[in-house]
Amino acid sequence: MRLGDQLRQQLAAKALKRQLDRVTKEMETGAERAAVAAHTGEASAAQPVNPADYAALCRFDTLPAYQQVSIIREVSERLGIASPFFRVHEGVAGATTQINGQSYINFANYNYLGLSGDAEVSASAKAAVDQYGTSASASRMVAGERPVQRELERALASVYEVDDCVAFVSGHATNVTVIGCLFGPGDLIVHDALAHNSIVQGAQLSGAKRLNFPHNDWAALDALLTRVRRDYRRVLIAVEGIYSMDGDFPELERFIDIKRRHGAFLMVDEAHSFGVLGATGKGIREHFGLAGRDVDIWMGTFSKTLAGCGGYIAGEQALIDILRHLAPGFLYSVGLSPVLAATSLTALRRMLDEPQRVAKLRERGRQFLDAAREAGLNTGLSAGYSVVPVIVGSSLKAAQWANALFEKGINTQPIFYPAVEEKAARLRFFICSTHTPEQIAYTIASVAQLARR
Ligand code: PMP
Repeated sequence: MRLGDQLRQQLAAKALKRQLDRVTKEMETGAERAAVAAHTGEASAAQPVNPADYAALCRFDTLPAYQQVSIIREVSERLGIASPFFRVHEGVAGATTQINGQSYINFANYNYLGLSGDAEVSASAKAAVDQYGTSASASRMVAGERPVQRELERALASVYEVDDCVAFVSGHATNVTVIGCLFGPGDLIVHDALAHNSIVQGAQLSGAKRLNFPHNDWAALDALLTRVRRDYRRVLIAVEGIYSMDGDFPELERFIDIKRRHGAFLMVDEAHSFGVLGATGKGIREHFGLAGRDVDIWMGTFSKTLAGCGGYIAGEQALIDILRHLAPGFLYSVGLSPVLAATSLTALRRMLDEPQRVAKLRERGRQFLDAAREAGLNTGLSAGYSVVPVIVGSSLKAAQWANALFEKGINTQPIFYPAVEEKAARLRFFICSTHTPEQIAYTIASVAQLARR
């Protein structure tokens, strides 16, 4: 590309970023204001609304959210970059995938242990369809349960060595409804600065005060709680087992010590660490050799290692009793489909029976990280398990690199601002146990070639 074109692209990208900043800020403050208003009964608009604006205010294309979507679309169009989003996969997406009739090495999926598409897992799903049909019909409290739902929950409770577990139909909704149901005004929710959107949404829904602490910085959390703990009734600390953007994990023992000293609950979201950390894939608890009871709320998703869709909470009986009877996302939502419960139960058994899958994932993640570092790529904080970013420093570059890799038969997703800071824009690689050493070597060589350009 000529220097003039490059400069024009950069200027256009900067102007669009400024617009995006403004709209994103508007959306964030609007959401916080609405959450507070929901609990205080105050009007959520900052100023009274002029009736002359009513017509514009009841059009979807005037919503800040629509402006955000339009700006992102415009970025791709103005910069002449094909959108890397919403690609259609024509078969099982694992270490490889098929898109538009072509095969790609695939790093844009969560099939960490290769269990989605596994013959035994698929056979159990088909058998469940034959036995129960495809729908759980309605809420489990009123429409009743299927044996396979409780079998899955009991199996997970036993993995965590806690009293019980409850399954929800979405991982995201699990965090939203559980945090929203357990905490309220007068409480404090303090989460890692890089916590997943579902944790933030749950905290907003609850009406509790929401604060964050710098990423993985337990000392800052300790200092924060020393300052403010007395001002709140109940306190929740929320962290993740492996962070989905950076691929690193917290020193969990430190957080357990802090939650004990400050009288707080600790929640760990294991979306990306279950099946990944620990010798047999039992997660961050196994990695650090901790007891199930050391953490108050274990959360995980069925969509990654467990090859299905949904989320779960494991912990003591009183917690699970509350959620089974009162969490709106459980009580007023359909039960986990029996086909998905059977899928994840079989995937869990395969994981426990075949620890070599977990060992292989670890080897592949290590290989990817070591080779990337050796090639001089910036892998940020990644510990090299399931998630390795390559930080490229601008959204534009991330999009260009992702498209260049696609042309070389590699499918990976770029992560743009505002999902991460502009200077931290990146390509994100999800590693599976089924990637071959050759696929990883070829991928790193291809990324390194782009970096040298
Ligand atoms: N928690 C974390 C940390 C996540 O990364 C995600 C999404 N990948 C979720 C929760 C939501 O899970 P799901 O996509 O299964 O709804």
